[in-house]
This record gives sequence, structure tokens and C-alpha cells, in this order.
Amino acid sequence: MNARPGRLVLLGHPVAHSLSPTFQNAALRRAGLPWTYEAMDVAPANLAAAMHRLRELRACGNVTVPHKEAVAALCDRLTPIAERVGAVNTFWVEDGRLVGDNTDVGGFEQAVERAFGTVRHWPQLTLLGAGGAAAAVMAAAERWTGCRVLLWSRNAARSARLAERFPNVRCVASREEALRDADLVVNATPLGLHAGDDHPALIQSLNARAAVFDLVYVRGETAWVLAARAAGHPAADGLGMLIAQGALAFERWFGVAPDREAMWDSVTA
Ligand code: NAP
Repeated sequence: MNARPGRLVLLGHPVAHSLSPTFQNAALRRAGLPWTYEAMDVAPANLAAAMHRLRELRACGNVTVPHKEAVAALCDRLTPIAERVGAVNTFWVEDGRLVGDNTDVGGFEQAVERAFGTVRHWPQLTLLGAGGAAAAVMAAAERWTGCRVLLWSRNAARSARLAERFPNVRCVASREEALRDADLVVNATPLGLHAGDDHPALIQSLNARAAVFDLVYVRGETAWVLAARAAGHPAADGLGMLIAQGALAFERWFGVAPDREAMWDSVTA
């Protein structure tokens, strides 16, 4: 898409904690590409000016919290999947126009397949949380034949606004109801990021056959993932999705697949 970007950045606020520079720079080194991927902390008030400058520089990059929806609004063109999610996590410049994409959707799909096997079928996905990441999960789930989504978040109005955009999604009034028959339970809240956080769902509320996928990642896996696995549930945290969305972004920018093992090694060694 953009074979010679003027800059390669991650936009966020805050952004210093992100693992993306570590694994993107490992992939760049492995591919012999002469760029450095830089974290760029941009306050919301400065976002429009920053994107204007990045367009002039023919920059490529990723976008993280809290800018994904705002960058979507600033792009000249969105890919169909970014349009569907309403958020951009990957961008580049094409013929002077800023193009926004969303690789969180494909990253989520690939990470679920990697964690639980490609042949799994998920009749009921229960989604906890109703923000931008939840929208990416819904956009993936609507591509899965026969998958219906039950959505629960602490803010019923926000859940309802999100669910009305996706025909296979239904809001439920209680977390217990959402969990009762779930085949796959996905945490799309930030719970688990900090030591001492509550679990997004009680382990004893999970259906015995449920697999658990946590979008949150911390060093050594999240407490919820560890507890679910100890209780016999297949479980994975968000590191696989982070790497996969980053690898898909790399392919968009350079037209070649990065070495995913090198990316993994750089953040797990
Ligand atoms: P967001 O837009 O801020 O939405 C967060 C959702 O979680 C909202 O429904 C929010 O409810 C809810 N929530 C926040 N704090 C909560 C709490 N203490 N208890 C219960 N619910 C709570 O965030 P997002 O962009 O969707 O991201 C959600 C999480 O996914 C973040 O931790 C992010 O790092 C992670 N993520 C991971 C990847 C990956 O590649 N692994 C990719 C994207 C996102 P309210 O509306 O009531 O605040």
C-alpha cells in the first residue's frame, strides 16, 4: 500500500507502556527494512493536527486508546471493515489520501483460531464490555456461520447502541444470563489490567464447556485466564490478538508478511 512510508508510528494517549514498538521493530529488523516504529503520545486536542502532518509525511501506523474512533472520522477513506467497526487501528497514505483500516477484527479471529483450533464452531459467544474492542469482536463474529452474540456491559444504554448495529447481537440484562449457555466468553473490558481487579466474570458462572478469551494481556497472562484454565476451561489472553493485529498491519504497509515468531520472541523472551 505504502512501500516507502515517511514515518511509522503508534498513536495513543498514553502510549509508553505499549508492546507494539518492541514486536514491530523486531519484525522490521528481521525483514531488513530500514524503518523504526515509534510510539507517539498525542493528546486528543492535538489529534487532528497530528494526523494532518502524518498525511503530509506519507506516514503509516497504528492507533490505540483513546483515538480509534476519532481517527476513523479524520480519514479520507475507510476500508469496509473499518467502516463496519466504526474505528481505525491501522492507517496509511495512498495518493495523498489517508486510508483507515481495522486489523483488530482479523487479529481477533486469528488469535481465537490459534488458541482454540481452526475447526471450532461457536454457536454462542458471550461478550463482556461494549466499547471499541467489543465492536471489533462483533464484526468478526458476524462472519462466523451460526454464531450469535449475547452482550452484557455495565452500561445498558451503551450496549444497546452497539447491539443495534449488529443483527446477530442481543443485549441481556444480567451477566449470569449472558454466561449460562456460552461456548466462548470474551472479555472486552479493561478488567484484569491491574493487580487486584475483579474478574470480568466469576469462574463458577461459566458454562462447563466454555472457552475463555481475554482481550487484556499482562506479563504472565491475566489472573482470569489462569483461573479459568485451572478450572478446566481452554483459555487465552490478548497477547495473541495484539501480535496478530500488528502482523496484519505490517502486511498492509509493506505488502509482505512479517516473521510472527520473531514478533512473539521479542515480547515473551
Ligand atoms: P473502551 O472503548 O473504553 O470500552 C471498555 C468497555 O469496558 C466499556 O463497555 C466499559 O464500560 C467497560 N468497562 C470499563 N471499565 C470497567 C470496569 N471497571 N468494570 C466493568 N466494565 C468496565 O475500551 P476498548 O478499546 O473497547 O478496550 C477494551 C479492552 O480491550 C482494553 O483493556 C484494551 O487494552 C483491550 N484491547 C486489546 C486488544 C488486543 O489486541 N489484545 C485490542 C483492542 C483492545 P463503560 O462504558 O461503562 O465505561
